[in-house]
Order: sequence, then structure tokens, then C-alpha cells
Amino acid sequence: MERKVRVRFAPSPTGPLHIGGVRTALYNYLFARRHGGDMILRIEDTDSQRFVPGAEDYINESLAWLGIKIDEGVREGGAYGPYKQSERRDIYREYVGKLLDAGKAYIAFDTPAELEAARAATPNFQYDASTRLNMRNSLSLSPEEVKSLMDAGTPYVVRFKIEPGRDVVVNDLLRGQVTINSSILDDKVLYKSADDLPTYHLANIVDDHLMEVTHVIRGEEWLPSAPLHVLLYEAFGWADSRPDFVHLPLLLKPDGKGKLSKRDGDRLGFPVFPLEWHDPASGNVSTGYRESGYLPEAVINFLALLGWNPGDDTEIMSMDELISKFSFEHCSKAGAKFAYEKGRWFNHEYLQTTPDEELGELFRPVLEAHGVNPDDFSREYIARVVELVKGRINFVGDLWDQAKFFFVAPETYAEKDIRKRWKPETPAILTELIGVLRALPSFKGADAEPVVLGWVEANGYHLGNVMNAWRLTLVGECKGPHIFDITELIGLEETVARMERGIETIQPVDQQ
Ligand code: GLU
Repeated sequence: MERKVRVRFAPSPTGPLHIGGVRTALYNYLFARRHGGDMILRIEDTDSQRFVPGAEDYINESLAWLGIKIDEGVREGGAYGPYKQSERRDIYREYVGKLLDAGKAYIAFDTPAELEAARAATPNFQYDASTRLNMRNSLSLSPEEVKSLMDAGTPYVVRFKIEPGRDVVVNDLLRGQVTINSSILDDKVLYKSADDLPTYHLANIVDDHLMEVTHVIRGEEWLPSAPLHVLLYEAFGWADSRPDFVHLPLLLKPDGKGKLSKRDGDRLGFPVFPLEWHDPASGNVSTGYRESGYLPEAVINFLALLGWNPGDDTEIMSMDELISKFSFEHCSKAGAKFAYEKGRWFNHEYLQTTPDEELGELFRPVLEAHGVNPDDFSREYIARVVELVKGRINFVGDLWDQAKFFFVAPETYAEKDIRKRWKPETPAILTELIGVLRALPSFKGADAEPVVLGWVEANGYHLGNVMNAWRLTLVGECKGPHIFDITELIGLEETVARMERGIETIQPVDQQ
């Protein structure tokens, strides 16, 4: 019988979720949804030394922001819980016991100093079939010795007893068969009595089995662990129900030379984390995609294409479209260059298709941050402003630069524009224009425009100079949307007030 597809995203809460981890979560999600399967979020917190407070909440919040929905997890619950490994100690203890009873694992008492000495004495020392009998463990010591050490509460670890000289075959849906010889593997630690916790390897295999995971989709950095995992499935007698592996390609630096790191982001100015992260230990703050003004849909679209394509050159795809097209057939094995400019392009594109009211909502906190109370303006006003300028923005935050004059009158005027457009006759012409504007029966842009243009023409004024000088008084520089859209929106009184202020304060600059 075909098993129901079940995948898991299994982050360790050792810090903020990296953007590469987000892509892993996304591919798990797309694959699960594509096949009507379940997506599990399992928190792998067995490394107590590296636990970072806040990291688990950060993971949940990141996935929620991005729209990656979890079916089973710590928050969601589910029939296979608990979903946090530190709450599954009893289960791991039981399975460690099974391996010990079957002679597939053994207890080792070597202290850190003893291991250090062994490493110093033998170049390339490996704890394995060739060395284990020289070490202090339940294979080399007598049962009485082992018992007395245990009774005395001596700290120990449980190691996996790897049989040398066997070909281990890892089947990877992306990479095909990868065969390695078991002799190169060491007797990995599976459990530590000191903190009564399993290591990643044991916990991962036991959980994937008990949670009936069918596909293990994870980063390439875990490929070297896969042969060990294959042997563990075998040792437990679970080889037949072993999940399929997919090891996703690395995310590379934008120039393709090496693995993407936080430093690349800092150097080139892009975030490597989904959300802003406040490091609890150092107090350092790292920027996130959300806080940098990216839309979650744009981040998803961008990430989906870092290592996968839909088989044609379609670029803009919603989550539903991604789901309907996703398969590992079109995943690449080669590392994916982190083309962050493309991320900006996606964001620009998504901003254009976002309803203006929605962008207006996102603009409100930006306005506030610049000392403007958004409540002083109607929602329609803010949405109309967004509509006029959004073609020029890549990020919500760019709205301020493009549209601040809709909210505050300019206090300074760009010198280069004054030099070019403010002529000795300008104050008199603008004063006349105020009269023309006041006499308009309708101040709507479409009504005002022909009248103003007719007036310019009838008087023989220089159209470019008049319009740009006028714009300078309204905006503070010669940029922005269509001038009659600006005046209609800010209204007659504000338009006139800004013109009067300009006439009063702008001094012509020497014109060469
Ligand atoms: N806890 C591991 C991590 O942090 C999980 C690796 C896996 O998916 O097997 O990435």
C-alpha cells in the first residue's frame, strides 16, 4: 500500500532560522502539499549546550509569517507527539536499550582526557572496530567492571557498533545512489548519560520512524550522516520502511564562491534571516526580510526558485502555483547562487500586484517612524498615495522617500533644481498661477490640467520652467508623480500654501 506522504522540518533551536533553513522548510511544505501529505515541525533540542532562548518562537513566527503551514507540531499538536525532542527522553532511552540488548551498541566510559590521549597517540584516530577494544567500554571491560562503574554512577555514552567493510547504499531522490564503505565511519555516540539525552543521529532516526516520515528532505550538509542513518534503520530492523532521502543543494554566495554566510548579507546589504533577530547573549540585532520591507509571498517565490524550476521559465508563482508544480525532478544538485538582486525584483513585482489598501496598511508604521501620524489621513488618501508611487519602489520603506511630500510640506528645496528652474520671473508667474487655481470651478486633476496648460500657452510662458518651479514648491525637488495628481490629492489650500511659502523663501541661485 502507498503510504501517505509525511515530511518533517526539524530545526535545532540554536539561533535564528537561516534563510537556507527556510528554503528547506519550504521544499518540505511544497512537496507535502503537492502530494496531499502532512508537514511536521519537530524541534530538535537535544544539544543542551547550544540551546538559545527565543529560537523556537522565532522558528514558529517565521514560518507563520511566510505562510508555511504546519500540520503537526508543538503548537499544533498531533497524534505522534510530543514534537519536541527534549520531551521524548523516555522514548529514546527505550530505543537505546533495544540496541544495547541486541548487541548493536555498547557503553563507553572513556573520559574526554582519555579520548584526547588516544587522538594524540594515533594520527587520524577513529573510534571504530580497529580501536574500540583498546578503549574503556563494555566490549573491552568485563561485565563485573561495567556493572561496578555503572553502579558508581560513572558518566558514560552509548556508541553505535559499526561493522566494518560493508558497502552502505544511500538512495537520494536527487543524487541517485551514493555508496560508501562502512569502514570509514566511526562508532558514533548515540546517547549521553550526563544529560540523559540522545544525540541528533539516534533521536532523528527514532523520531522519523515513529512519526512515520516518508521523505527526509534536508540540507546537503547532512548527506555525510546519511550512511550512518541507513545503518541505524537497519539495526532497528526498520530498513523496509526507511524514508527516502533528498539532500538539497547548498545556498551559495552571490558570486557562487562558497557557502552563503551572514557576512555576505552584511557586506552586500541583504538579510539572511526571515525576521529580525535580537541575539539574547550579545544583544546584537540582525535584520530580517520582514523588517526590511519584503512581502512574504515575494520571499517564498524567490526562495522556491533557488534550486528548483517549474520546467519552463515562469517566474512569478503564488504558493498554490508552486505547490501544483513542485517536484524533485526539476531540482538541481548543484549549489544555488543567492542572487539577492532577484529577491528585490520579486519584491518589486509583488508590490505592484498588492492591493493599494493593503500596501497602505503596511505604510502606516513607516509613516509613524518618520513622525507622521497616519490617523491624520484617511485610509483612502494613503491608498491613493501608494497607487501613485508604487511603480518606483522595491520595498514598503521606499514609500517614504517617494511620497513624503503627500504628508509633510517640503522645508528645503533642492539647489540643483532651483538653479535650473527658478528664474527671476518665477515668483510673479507662480503668484499669477495661484489666481488661476483659485478661479478653477473644479480642482480635480483632469479638470485643472487643461486650464493651467491653456494659461501657460496663452501667456507664452516656458512650460518646463513653470511646471518644474511649481513642482519644486510642492515637493521640494523636481521629482514625483504627475503634478495634477499631487495637487488634487493635497487639495487647493495646501497647494496654495506651499506655493506661497516657496515664493517667499526660494532665492534664485547664480546661474552660470
Ligand atoms: N536538527 C537538524 C538541523 O538542525 C535536522 C537535520 C535533519 O533534517 O535531519 O538541521
